[in-house]
This record gives sequence, structure tokens and C-alpha cells, in this order.
Amino acid sequence: MSKRQKLMVGNWKMNGSLAANASLVAELLQGMAEVYCHAAVCVPSVYLSQLQTLLAGSELALGAQDVSPHESGAYTGEVSASMLKDFGVRYCILGHSERRRDHSESDALVALKAQRALAGGITPIVCVGESLAEREAGETEAVVKRQLAALIQVNGHCISEIVVAYEPVWAIGTGLTAKPEQAQAVHAVLRAQLQAASPHADRVSILYGGSMNAANAATLLDQPDVDGGLIGGAALKAPDFLTMLKAASR
Ligand code: PEP
Repeated sequence: MSKRQKLMVGNWKMNGSLAANASLVAELLQGMAEVYCHAAVCVPSVYLSQLQTLLAGSELALGAQDVSPHESGAYTGEVSASMLKDFGVRYCILGHSERRRDHSESDALVALKAQRALAGGITPIVCVGESLAEREAGETEAVVKRQLAALIQVNGHCISEIVVAYEPVWAIGTGLTAKPEQAQAVHAVLRAQLQAASPHADRVSILYGGSMNAANAATLLDQPDVDGGLIGGAALKAPDFLTMLKAASR
């Protein structure tokens, strides 16, 4: 079993409303008594102010879902790391497959965003993962290694401050989950690559994401290199997310 304390992160994606957020957070905070892992929710940026207030003084950390690679200036629609920091943001998901797909985010851009987040005092949660076609073509290892190499190339000196999330694209929002041993196999590849790059690699948390839910979380979290979860759909249901946080607290 890993010595790294587990980290469980809810990715709310483009879901929520002022009213729905308030009731979800109230239910989560009520159930946090038996939660001993690190936990965070990554929310749409328009709700950061609301969530900063709702989460104040709680054990649930605040996260965002993207950051600009630029410091400031003429970048309409973008949100900088220092702006996120103003709202108490601790984590930022970067390079999610939905952003790679819908916004053509390259490995190099994701690495730059991670650099910008780190400079702003925010922990990047950098997503890597293969598509179904890539898995079927036997390219899983090559794809995740390429994605991680770009991150290491730019941020190798502070790699221990980054969280990596292995999210097989075919498992995100589909109800298909990687088998625990499939997840562990890829996590071990990522860990070895980190170890080759940094003496601090054992401190890097590698999360699993892709249809993790209340029923399958415990067995995934039992894998030696699975240090937590990045959770989409199931993080929007307080009882389910709490069950998963408790599974990570054993
Ligand atoms: C995600 O969006 O990062 C994710 C893992 O989603 P889901 O849990 O819904 O598959």
C-alpha cells in the first residue's frame, strides 16, 4: 500500500447552479466527519467566489478546471493563475481529455499551463490517457509516456509538486472503468517514468479517473500506485462522493 495520503478530486465539469452548489456542498460538509483523505472539488470558474465562501474553514479544498498559460493581458475569456489564487484555489485540472479534444490543447500547451499554475502557487492536476483506438492499437504506454514527457520537460525540477491523473479517455463518462490491474499497470509505467526524471517521484500522487464510482472506488484505490481519484459524474451526488472519500480514508 502506498505511503502517499490519498487525494480525491471531484470534477464538476460544466454542471451546477448557485442553488444546486449550495445544497451539494452542505450535504458534503455534513458527511466529512469520517473523511481523512485529501479532498477537493474543481468547479466552473464563475462559481469560485461562491465556493470559496461555502468551503471556508472546511477540509474540502477548492479547485478550478483550467488556467491560462499567460500571466495577464489581452487574452479575452482567459483566467490567470493569480486570479484563481485570489479565490483560494488550491488545485487546477489541466489537459483534461475534453479540453484536449474540444480546444485542441497540445501536450506542450498543457505543460506550459502547469508551469503557470505552479508559479502562481496552485497545484496542477495534469490528465493523461489514451483513446479506445490507441488502446486497441497497443499504444497506451507510448501515448501516456509522450504526454508525461512533455510535462517533465518543462516542469521536471518541480515535478513533486504536480499531481498526475491517469484518465483513459474511453472510460470517462462512459460507465466503462479500467480494471484495477489495467489502471495499476499504467500507473506503474507513469511512476517509473517519473522516477527516471526525479529523485522525488515517489511523492507524486497519481490519480485514476474514468467512471470511478461508489461501487468500484475501493478496489481501484487498493492498487499500490493509485493514489486517489479524479471523479466526474459521481462527484455530483453527495452520498456517492462521500462513500468514495471514505473508501480513500481507510
Ligand atoms: C472526469 O471528467 O475527469 C471523469 C473521470 O469523469 P467520470 O468520472 O464521469 O468518468
